[in-house]
Amino acid sequence: MLDKIHIIQGDITQIAVDAIVNAANTSLLGGGGVDGAIHRQGGPVILEECRRIRARQGGCNVGEAVITTAGQLPAKHVIHTVGPRWQDGLHGEPALLDQCYRSCFALLDECGLTSVSFPNISTGIYRFPKQDAARIALTRIAALLAENAAITRVNVVCFEEQNADIYRALLEAMRQH
Ligand code: ADP
Repeated sequence: MLDKIHIIQGDITQIAVDAIVNAANTSLLGGGGVDGAIHRQGGPVILEECRRIRARQGGCNVGEAVITTAGQLPAKHVIHTVGPRWQDGLHGEPALLDQCYRSCFALLDECGLTSVSFPNISTGIYRFPKQDAARIALTRIAALLAENAAITRVNVVCFEEQNADIYRALLEAMRQH
């Protein structure tokens, strides 16, 4: 299962997969960080679809996910999930981050998609501690891969070298157990 997980350091917008995951906010109207990069590179059609979803269901709750086209990106779809903003760890942040990965996999399953790239959800503007976020992400991704044989590839795309190092070390430790 772990051999399906690939740690890549780079820009998530440049990689061709069935779906890239966006670390969005509850408004779905775009923001900074990876959200800004995805809308910039993908073009206005992504925001148009986000607006339609927003009109229909009023945005997206923390831990949940919605799917749109990927516009001009090399990926086919964007899955927008909303990570928790870190407060002190006592406000359900770990469970909510875990829920983001579950929600994204549920959409992959529903839509019959087999490859996906995740950014390091919540670890930028939302300030979730990087090591904890990586442990939650890799543990949940490995468990979901074990349940879903149709997914052939999961990229974890780290923009920052520090995150790439954390993920590589964690994945190596998981391989040895
Ligand atoms: P959040 O609000 O969920 O913290 P951010 O976009 O601020 O979302 O940060 C999430 C992660 O995405 C951070 O680790 C940040 O370095 C990373 N990031 C920013 N731009 C890109 C990009 N183009 N590709 C991949 N990751 C990115």
